Amino acid sequence: MSEKNKIRIYTPIELTTRKDISLSEEQSHYLCNVMRLKINDNLLCFNDNDGEFLAQVTEANKKQTKLHLLSLERKPQKSPDIWLVFAPLKKDRTDFLIEKAVELGVNKIIPVSTRFGISDKIRTERIRLQMIEAAEQCERFDVPQLAEMLKLEDLLKTWPENRTLFFMDEKRTGLPVSQAFCNTKNKPAAILIGPEGGFAPEESEFLKKRPFVCPVSLGPRILRAETAAAASLAVWQAISGDWKE
Ligand code: SAM
Repeated sequence: MSEKNKIRIYTPIELTTRKDISLSEEQSHYLCNVMRLKINDNLLCFNDNDGEFLAQVTEANKKQTKLHLLSLERKPQKSPDIWLVFAPLKKDRTDFLIEKAVELGVNKIIPVSTRFGISDKIRTERIRLQMIEAAEQCERFDVPQLAEMLKLEDLLKTWPENRTLFFMDEKRTGLPVSQAFCNTKNKPAAILIGPEGGFAPEESEFLKKRPFVCPVSLGPRILRAETAAAASLAVWQAISGDWKE
């Protein structure tokens, strides 16, 4: 396997040079049956505490894969402090939103149930696996935290007051996105995206009364929720996050 296309695998196991580790059955199946990894092949193993290590396969079968950690390749780096709050969408649209949010460096994802949302439940395990896959692909070190789903009003009751909640409002009542993000540069922030049916009028009113909520417009066109999530995260990264470096 070429250096360039080396497989990256996330593991919560503590990683240090010269350590031997065993991967989960799920990862062993993926590496042996899907990626056809064999003994002596190299791959990269990472997590947010220890960084990214070059590893060599020492045992490879679909039930168990063992690796020997050779060297630390990259020290860990934290993702910028940006959260995404979203109301669940249809299956493929939620999949898209999760994948793009991870690529765009979000560090916590909070599902909320809203009046016009399509569901009060999320598939936690499916989302967790999607987040790991996206983190492996995009070369980040950490997998975002996935919070428990809450009702919008309950989330707002326990919201940390020092974290600005950017309420993406297609009714254009808020500041243009670049202005809103510039005003709160380098402060803890979160982006709130509504469901396909938007927020109910009483939800919008309730949101606007909270001191930590900042209504924001993403321009004259109504975007799909997953587009609005990706667009606003990209603007935030460019103004306050790790795209400004
Ligand atoms: N109210 C609409 C409806 O009838 O379906 C549209 C909701 S839109 C598809 C889903 C979410 O994306 C909105 O709740 C909002 O958070 C965000 N959004 C879409 N376009 C936006 C814009 N131009 N500005 C700010 N937020 C937007």
